[in-house]
Amino acid sequence: MALPWRMRTIIEPFRIKSVEPIHMTTREHREEALRKAHFNLFLLKAHDVLIDLLTDSGTGAMSSEQWAGVMRGDESYAGADSFFHFERCLQEITGFEHILPTHQGRASERILFELVGGPGKVVPNNTHFDTTLANVEHSGARAVNLPIEQASDPKNRHPFKGNMDVRALEALIDEVGVERIPLVMVTVTNNSGGGQPVSLENLRAVRAVCDRHGLPLFLDACRFAENAWFIKQREAGQQERPVRQIAREMFDLADGATISAKKDGLVNIGGVLLMRDEALFRRATSLLILTEGYVTYGGLAGRDLEAMAQGFREVLREDYLAYRIRSTEYLGERLLSMGVQIIEPPGGHAVYVDAQAFCPHIPAEQFPGQAVVCELYRAGGIRACEIGSVMFGRHSRPKMELVRLAIPRRVYTQSHIDYVLEVFEDLHKKRDDLRGLRIVEEPEALRHFTAKFEEIV
Ligand SMILES: *Cc1c(COP(=O)(O)O)cnc(C)c1O
Repeated sequence: MALPWRMRTIIEPFRIKSVEPIHMTTREHREEALRKAHFNLFLLKAHDVLIDLLTDSGTGAMSSEQWAGVMRGDESYAGADSFFHFERCLQEITGFEHILPTHQGRASERILFELVGGPGKVVPNNTHFDTTLANVEHSGARAVNLPIEQASDPKNRHPFKGNMDVRALEALIDEVGVERIPLVMVTVTNNSGGGQPVSLENLRAVRAVCDRHGLPLFLDACRFAENAWFIKQREAGQQERPVRQIAREMFDLADGATISAKKDGLVNIGGVLLMRDEALFRRATSLLILTEGYVTYGGLAGRDLEAMAQGFREVLREDYLAYRIRSTEYLGERLLSMGVQIIEPPGGHAVYVDAQAFCPHIPAEQFPGQAVVCELYRAGGIRACEIGSVMFGRHSRPKMELVRLAIPRRVYTQSHIDYVLEVFEDLHKKRDDLRGLRIVEEPEALRHFTAKFEEIV
């Protein structure tokens, strides 16, 4: 990466051409909005949020070139130029021959697991993302997570905390029998494990196990570029390689991939299903046509395909990745230095705050993570996401009570992040005043989206 001089400040590698106002609100207004939303931030109107860190999915800003692509989009039903542009671009980056567009990551997962899943099957992953898990199980198969042991210790600074436990994979294959495993999946970066990267060494080791047993390896490659950047920074011997080459090696080790383009595709909607196997591709094509759309648009418009093609190109720019990963790290390291425990080291797309450590006086059954997200909103108009007993605790206690601060791509500047830090600093001083919550109404499944709460006084 050619820098004009040794920069200490990693600046945003873009200037702003179009702006979208965000809304300043008073504490009284937010108090009222929070009450009306029954203390569930998913039920807030986005208009009432100042800094929205709920998710990094589909919330990024497109570049001027992507918007130009939107205008160029070929909306022909079949054989559109935009499809061939998209296909060529993904073939170049990934090396996979067969490229299917889908409307988002979960559509790729649904097609894949409808074809290879089913009752009696077992699918290993370093950690299944929640939609992946749901799609594996919807097919009747069992999803098994095999993260390395270090992943569950928030203070462990393992450089590749997203790695799969290769010995546990061998043991699982021995235990259930190779014929019951349709494929092995590795998620890069490991979203549910804190946005932590997977090393090339680990991918090669997983590949070797797959080869020994004749198993296909698929990547959940939503954040392939962020993962490749971490490899360049942290893995021995990788510092001089272009990120694009590292990303290509990751894909070369796999037989296929599912991607949500709402992450490293730098678009607001879109997904991809990629594979080498011709027979599987033919079956996937039939399902795609049945439920998503014809093969050359897959449930999207031609303009979406243009925006994706350009986004996948831009995401591999090293000045972008340096800024992206550095800005997440900046937030994480500053929180740590003020005494807020996070999952260390900071992830690629998000910082995960240990809410139980933040307010030890609130027991897990009174949702410390929810208490923190409510107060972040009340105090500063910031929206974050509870990942703890609200999300996962209906039937059992999750291992950790977390608050995720996910960073949308190219949306906020350093001063926005400094503001978030200021709010956190105040909150940290007053953390003993935080109150727990109880659920007063909840749906059967995925309760975090719609449950209603009240504060315990
Ligand atoms: C977001 C995500 C998905 C699902 O993608 P959608 O576009 O939201 O359907 C799958 N896996 C991982 C790791 C993700 O982050």
